[in-house]
Amino acid sequence: MSKRLRDGDPEIVETFTKIYGIPPATLEKLKDPKSMASYFREDIKKGMMEIGFSVDWRREFTTIDPLYNRFIEWHFQTLNRKGRITRGTHPVAWCPNDKSPVGVVDTMGDVEPDIGESYLVKFEKDGVFYPTSTLRPETVFGVTNLWVNPDASYVKADVDGEHWVVSKEAIEKLQHQNHKVAVEREIQASEVLWKTVRNPVTGNEVPVFPGSFVEPDNGTGVVMSVPGHAPYDFQALTDLRQRYDDSAEAGQLLQATTPISIIRLEGFSELPAADLIQKFKIKDQKDHHLEHATQELYSKEFHDGVMKENTGSYAGMPVAKAREAIVEELTGEGKIETFLELRNAPVVCRCGTKCLVHILENQWFINYGDPEWKKLAHKCLDQMTILTEELRAEFNYTLDWLKERACARTVGLGTKLPWDQNWIIEALSDSVVYMAYYILSKYFARDWVVFKKFEKDTSRLPDAFFNFTLLGQGTVDTVVEQTGIPKRILSGIRSEFQYFYPVDMRHSARDLVSNHLSFYIFHHSSLFPEKQWPKGIVANGFVLMEGAKMSKSLENIIPLRQGIAKFGADPVRVGVMATAELGQDTDFSESLAVSIQERLAALIGQARKLGRKKAFGKSKPSTLNRWMISRLSSAVQTATIALDRLRVREAINIILYQLDNDIAWYKRRLGPKKPRSDNRDQILRKVLETRTRMMAPLAPHTAEEIWSRIGNKGFVVQTDWPEESESEKYPTAERAEALVRQLLDDTGEILKATGITPKRIAYYTAADWKWRVYLKALKSAEEKRKQGEFIKDVMGDPQLRSLGKIAADYAAKAIQQANQMPDEMRESRLRDGIAAEKTIFVDSVDFYQREFKCAVEVWQEGDLKIGDPKGRARMSEPYRPAIYLE
Ligand SMILES: [Zn+2]
Repeated sequence: MSKRLRDGDPEIVETFTKIYGIPPATLEKLKDPKSMASYFREDIKKGMMEIGFSVDWRREFTTIDPLYNRFIEWHFQTLNRKGRITRGTHPVAWCPNDKSPVGVVDTMGDVEPDIGESYLVKFEKDGVFYPTSTLRPETVFGVTNLWVNPDASYVKADVDGEHWVVSKEAIEKLQHQNHKVAVEREIQASEVLWKTVRNPVTGNEVPVFPGSFVEPDNGTGVVMSVPGHAPYDFQALTDLRQRYDDSAEAGQLLQATTPISIIRLEGFSELPAADLIQKFKIKDQKDHHLEHATQELYSKEFHDGVMKENTGSYAGMPVAKAREAIVEELTGEGKIETFLELRNAPVVCRCGTKCLVHILENQWFINYGDPEWKKLAHKCLDQMTILTEELRAEFNYTLDWLKERACARTVGLGTKLPWDQNWIIEALSDSVVYMAYYILSKYFARDWVVFKKFEKDTSRLPDAFFNFTLLGQGTVDTVVEQTGIPKRILSGIRSEFQYFYPVDMRHSARDLVSNHLSFYIFHHSSLFPEKQWPKGIVANGFVLMEGAKMSKSLENIIPLRQGIAKFGADPVRVGVMATAELGQDTDFSESLAVSIQERLAALIGQARKLGRKKAFGKSKPSTLNRWMISRLSSAVQTATIALDRLRVREAINIILYQLDNDIAWYKRRLGPKKPRSDNRDQILRKVLETRTRMMAPLAPHTAEEIWSRIGNKGFVVQTDWPEESESEKYPTAERAEALVRQLLDDTGEILKATGITPKRIAYYTAADWKWRVYLKALKSAEEKRKQGEFIKDVMGDPQLRSLGKIAADYAAKAIQQANQMPDEMRESRLRDGIAAEKTIFVDSVDFYQREFKCAVEVWQEGDLKIGDPKGRARMSEPYRPAIYLE
């Protein structure tokens, strides 16, 4: 980036000035890479402080500190000694400008280059080769023509002693793959168009047709056409025919070119490509469905296709097997060559240059392909907690798939390869065990007097120092002797390392699973003894902005510090966590941040109203107070479970939002403030205090403000997370409140439906005998007994029998309800037994009178002197009081 800045690249200048607001004078300094690194390091550090992260800054270091470099030297020497580093010749993604391998951290948009193999099938004419690049060399039997781009530049070149015709762009790629290439002359596409070339396998002469869809940058810019089995070719041929008159020579040549069927595929016609063109209703070459059609046919033919009789010795072979055999045979005959491509091209280096595949000779690689190392890494992974667990498959895949990886660069900042000083260890290889360095860095800074001499001359700090402190090898006395570092410091480092290692949980990003996090597993499993292998990884998603990925073009990037300045630290913290569970992308938006701001301010407002501590009054706790405490206890329980499983979104929802529903109900039930007796403020204060302790890790600044406003000393972040047992659970109180609320809702429904403004409301709870029948019915349904037995049982009760038809009718109704009831509800009602409905409603009469602004009476069916003018009481059932309005 410094280089791009020096070159005056307008894109980077705009990013720095417009998005990051860096003043021009500072911009000048950033042209030096070290200044740029330290500028952004400082900026990010301030951001972390401003957002309130609890970071132990005593351990701060950078990967260019001399002592860190010494640590990485030890790291790589140790790997090398264990045979993990190899020297060899391997393909790498490469920036031709920097003359250096590139990995995910070196590319624009952090793209991991994906190297894939393709083939060059060499068609020939008069001693000149036309190498066509393809992924499906077995289809050479079905080639009807070649395609070249009429508008592209081609060259004739000497390649490894042969004459080749390829696109101009292909030359550089061939050179990077170790071909000896000398360009002879440029040629126009017209020199080869409409001529014929010879198929190296069948010996047929096939014409060369113009195809403007051919990308000169892809492969060699020369493509073989297999219209029988490639939808693109089929459609291109169809389109081309329409442009030429049948009477002209070209038209006749096109008419004579017909698809050849060479693969049998169950459920398809002779020409599967034509079938798919029909299936996807493709109209022309620009139709984007062509890509789907191509992929579908590629995979179907690869897995289920069989080579036909016209494919010579391959006839009858499955396609997958035929491909291997053809590659082997034709390679031996010099008719086909392997060609490597970046499958996800274009991949662009941060310097702005398009990357390509380079065969790096005699270079240093970390040998992730070593089967013995893979076994260790798998063993480590198998013992780890991976959150979310779905990612484990991706880890397994990566551990299996990783091969030799170039570990050095010629550009950038970092540590020189200890045994080959021309190379710098690249950024994804020197940052996989730095967690161990956090322990060292604290001592390096604290005991500076002791360590400064090593910083001046790092070679004076021997491997024995790291071997003892990090691996427990050797003895402290020998290290004291070798280094002069006091014994207490060495022992201190060693015991601190044993305290902190293994790493319990590494929090990182999901897109690093396929590189950094897998390297982290590999390196730890090789360097450290098994008991110090990492125990867990948490991988987070991205932060989206209003549903879209943050990008310069969308102008939706908010740098962290600007976000904090605009919305406040806590709204940003809660805002990024509130919209997604672990592993998902989270969606930040301005309106969300503002609504969280308001929520947090409302909680501070509650604290202001409650003021300082007051002792609980002496009165016996009411059912309602018990209910509130019980709700608080549930909130603590569910929030604790949620946070233990890192379901932060759920925890936020409980702590910041759901509890307010309960508080609102509590206040509504209490009505206007009564003098002293109800302990209302004490209860609300207890709720807010417990809530604040749960808020502390999520919105620490707001939590501290509330904590001090309600009269607490010290910091809330230093108190413990609330235990569920601190607030008691009162299931009876919770059930009673559920009944009160249900009756309120039912009455409201009736009022709404009838439009009545009541003068008087009477509630009738069910008679005791109904409860007895009801519970018998639940029991009978639970035991799945026959209905006849249940009726017999009911009528066996003399009191019920004396009620006659009334009891029999209710029993029939009750058993029907009991049978249809969800199991869970039936169980809980059986467990609860007879509810004290009348008492509960009598205690709530004040509340109902306030709500409905009229007189409210409560009776139980069968009460003496019951006021029941319309005979409603007999309609009552357990959990369903009858309601009378007038
Ligand atoms: Zn570059």
